[in-house]
Amino acid sequence: MITIDGSEGEGGGQVLRYACALSLLTGEAFTIENIRGGREKPGLMRQHVTAIEAACVIGGGECTGLAVGSNSIGFRPGRVTPGDYHFAVGTAGSTGLVLQTILVPLMMADAPSRLVIEGGTHAMAAPPFEFIARTLLPVINRMGPTISARLVRHGFYPRGGGRIEVDIDPAPLRPIECIERGAAGAVQTTAIVAGIPFDIADRELKAAQKMLADWPVDAFSTRQLSAEHGPGNAVLIEAAFEHVTEIMSGFGKLGTPAERVAQTAAKRMAGYIASGAFAGPYLQDQLLLPFAAARGGAFTSVRLSEHSRTAMALIERFTGQRFGVSETGAGNLVEAIA
Ligand code: AMP
Repeated sequence: MITIDGSEGEGGGQVLRYACALSLLTGEAFTIENIRGGREKPGLMRQHVTAIEAACVIGGGECTGLAVGSNSIGFRPGRVTPGDYHFAVGTAGSTGLVLQTILVPLMMADAPSRLVIEGGTHAMAAPPFEFIARTLLPVINRMGPTISARLVRHGFYPRGGGRIEVDIDPAPLRPIECIERGAAGAVQTTAIVAGIPFDIADRELKAAQKMLADWPVDAFSTRQLSAEHGPGNAVLIEAAFEHVTEIMSGFGKLGTPAERVAQTAAKRMAGYIASGAFAGPYLQDQLLLPFAAARGGAFTSVRLSEHSRTAMALIERFTGQRFGVSETGAGNLVEAIA
């Protein structure tokens, strides 16, 4: 039985999601206290409850203390069973983060799975759908499995109502090297608006354009969704390279100027491009679990995030898998020590 203090390190929901995934992978039960103790509103939110429920359903697990607001849970894993599953967060809580909880156990199962997940697809502090489909999954697919994702409907904060579908065809995982990003390819900035004034998208594109001044004018476009999807707004800034596509994102919020939403994402993209590294600030922590499951591999990354450090410590506790981190000319080199 592993005991986790949920306030340690990054102190957010990722500790919980990774603990469930690691528990299913290793068969090791865990308890966690001070859940999301590093956050302004600690305890389980609806999206965390759904993620843990999903882990119980696909993994034959049992969980005590599972309720919105709960500060501690106990989780006992069972046997992972691939199949067709449908999970609904019920709020704008992230569909991508529910996926983050169950993806690695299912991609190591002995048969395919098909998932339908409903909730938020473009909301703050979580990977937007495009990041999952075009940044994360192509890297994981290089390790062996075939995973594809479709966006059926957008879901924005606060309404949610989005829907993604994911097909997972498992294969033995092989360690991979993600050192070079390769030659630069297409770039694209898209401002999505749904049921809010069109000029918000315009202001976002102008702000992004200022920071990404060497990008061609036709790399900036607006996508207007019908009002029934909204209200909602997202900015997606995408740069494709030969071996990786990175996407930085920002999400409109009442009280936050549109310009700032776009500037923050554009600044992250400019920093990523300048670094020369393979993984940006979010891809890095999301690669750690698949790399640990493959028991090897390496990637270069922009400066290591607290999410990554916390995930590494947790992975080591469950699996003994350690990561080496060293400096290179293009950011950090992160190696899963075989
Ligand atoms: P937590 O803050 O502990 O709930 O974890 C958030 C997770 O979402 C981490 O795995 C982050 O890498 C990921 N994440 C947060 N924001 C983004 C973003 N804009 N793009 C991609 N992934 C993100």
